[in-house]
Amino acid sequence: MHSVLTTCPFCACGCGLYLHVENERIVGVSPSKKHPISRGNLCVKGWNSIEHVRHAERLREPLIRKNGKLVKTGWNHALKRISHELLRIKKKYGGESIGILSSAKCTNEENYLLMKLGRAILKTNNLDHCARLCHSPSVLGLTNAFGSGAMTNSISELAGAEVILVTGSNTTEQHPQIARFIFEALDKGAKLIVIDPRRIELSKFAHIYLRPRLGTDVIWLNGMMKIILDEGLVDDSFIKMRTENFSEFKKFLSRSDLSQVEAISGISLEDLGRAAKMYAGAKRAIIIYSMGITQHVSGTDNVESIANLAMMTGHLEQEITGVFPLRGQNNVQGACDMGALPGMLSGYQRVDDPAVLDKFSRAWNADLPSTPGLSSVDMLHNAGRIKGMFIMGENSMLSHPDMKNVRASLENSDFLAVADIFLTETAEVADVVLPAAAFVEKDGTVTSTERRIQRMRKAIPPAHLSKPDWQIIIELARHMGYPMDYESPAEVMEEIALLTPIYGGVYYDRLETVQGLQWPCSDRNHPGTPYLHKKSFTRGKGLFACIGYRPPAELPDKEYPFALTTGRVYEHWHTGSMTRRISILKRECPEGFVEISPEDARVLGIINGEPVKVISPRGEVITRAKLVGSLPAQTLFMPFHFREAPANALTNNAVDPQARIPELKICAVRLEKVT
Ligand code: SF4
Repeated sequence: MHSVLTTCPFCACGCGLYLHVENERIVGVSPSKKHPISRGNLCVKGWNSIEHVRHAERLREPLIRKNGKLVKTGWNHALKRISHELLRIKKKYGGESIGILSSAKCTNEENYLLMKLGRAILKTNNLDHCARLCHSPSVLGLTNAFGSGAMTNSISELAGAEVILVTGSNTTEQHPQIARFIFEALDKGAKLIVIDPRRIELSKFAHIYLRPRLGTDVIWLNGMMKIILDEGLVDDSFIKMRTENFSEFKKFLSRSDLSQVEAISGISLEDLGRAAKMYAGAKRAIIIYSMGITQHVSGTDNVESIANLAMMTGHLEQEITGVFPLRGQNNVQGACDMGALPGMLSGYQRVDDPAVLDKFSRAWNADLPSTPGLSSVDMLHNAGRIKGMFIMGENSMLSHPDMKNVRASLENSDFLAVADIFLTETAEVADVVLPAAAFVEKDGTVTSTERRIQRMRKAIPPAHLSKPDWQIIIELARHMGYPMDYESPAEVMEEIALLTPIYGGVYYDRLETVQGLQWPCSDRNHPGTPYLHKKSFTRGKGLFACIGYRPPAELPDKEYPFALTTGRVYEHWHTGSMTRRISILKRECPEGFVEISPEDARVLGIINGEPVKVISPRGEVITRAKLVGSLPAQTLFMPFHFREAPANALTNNAVDPQARIPELKICAVRLEKVT
């Protein structure tokens, strides 16, 4: 038996784990004791991260649609068909009629190659991935404020914090190994502020817990900053030396009416004042946030308001401070870094910057499109707009809002190809399906939420006839007449390093240790960067933005009197394609549900476990009621992992006009008993 060090395939904590291999079978998993985050721990998903790899439902060979049915075919035939169809569509309608969805589950190298194929061969910037649904407002909002959209500091710094403010992040359930560092800080005497509409587990340990109404974050954040201003708790020297536009921002705050804060957000000024003083008064304080902040039509506004708060209190530029957007999937940070975004090439280099375009055109020996493309929401919610699509490792049918609309777009396209490890709900409607290798069957790198680039290592050969996505893309490029000559992902990373300044010093020989490297890492001698913005912000000076409140796009009314919010549960991950094929996780959480407060349940005569129908203007779902004390009145919660009770059949596809993220955190619904 031998052991192979790799990185967990689920969340962006990026835990290091060992795969124990015997006779080309993985017989066990154990955490790395030396890993900076795992430190000998894994959550239940990490411990059980391999069962799905051997699952009987793994895709075994390529499939092609014939007479309405997906039937087996050979690799050559499948790749030829994809190549022929996409090139035909490009010729007939232009590159802008083709959409490419990359994957936060795939490696950096795979994301880089797919965006190269999309831009250099198919001439499209319609390239995106699931960051659109989780942290596109962070990429945009933090870039506007600081010049970089990534987490400013490192996870382990949490353990030394004096104050931690957590908002819109159910950290114990979604990033359990990050929550461990919060508890370590609490053991050392740190103070915890939790601000969340749901009374999440972490709120039990909070020194201050505040419950805002859904979608009112800008209001309480502005209120908090006005109190900090009025109390004279701003960091004048930081503001003077490191930021710009504060005088405008100060005028804007001075004009804001505190009496509106309580009326709209539901948080009393007294409680907000206590939280404001605790956060602003600390020497070292950190803000953690996640999709509770970003998945709103005001997602970018919310993120920029958080940046304002950190800047006005000077909680940046040093260790144990900063803004922590907790990214979801294990490589969602890396997929963004690699340019799986409609307006950016790798390293956040803009597609409309002539110097950038020239650099990539020369390196790739290809003309490149220079107009930013469409987001995934704009590709998937406009039936007929996109004629041909290639989707690598994403299950958009379940993850995007307003499922009916997504189905119509996918079914109305001329051609859809999907590469995945299982026949997902999205693959089921494809014209060609390619069997991809699982994470233990390929080499590559992934980048965690703290910008840590780490190795994924091949431990066993690909199952059946599956292939790693990086090989699939290379073969597809060859079929399209554009040879890509890479022998291994290590060679792809050499090209990434050459063209991507923040990855300039990232080479496989430097990634052998369990620590990996944190970007920016500009050259071979650069040690990596544990925290950003030390002497200056990436954009020079930090920019204060004056942000007014914008209500959610859809609020409860007479017909739909409940607000529905959605999210994840501890045992499952995203659309459940992997975790729902793992027996322990299935045992612990076998099916979907809708959470409701006991008071509301009593009024409707609903008992715990009873089947109920949840209805929104877009669809209806039958699931079981779960009575919980953690929800406010007139609010429901549904996890989005379950195909039999798909929360996204109900959610609204209204988007943040800047980051184009849909408002997955609030829509109006009604609840009925099933008779
Ligand atoms: Fe994997 Fe995240 Fe659990 Fe760590 S915390 S073991 S990365 S799912």
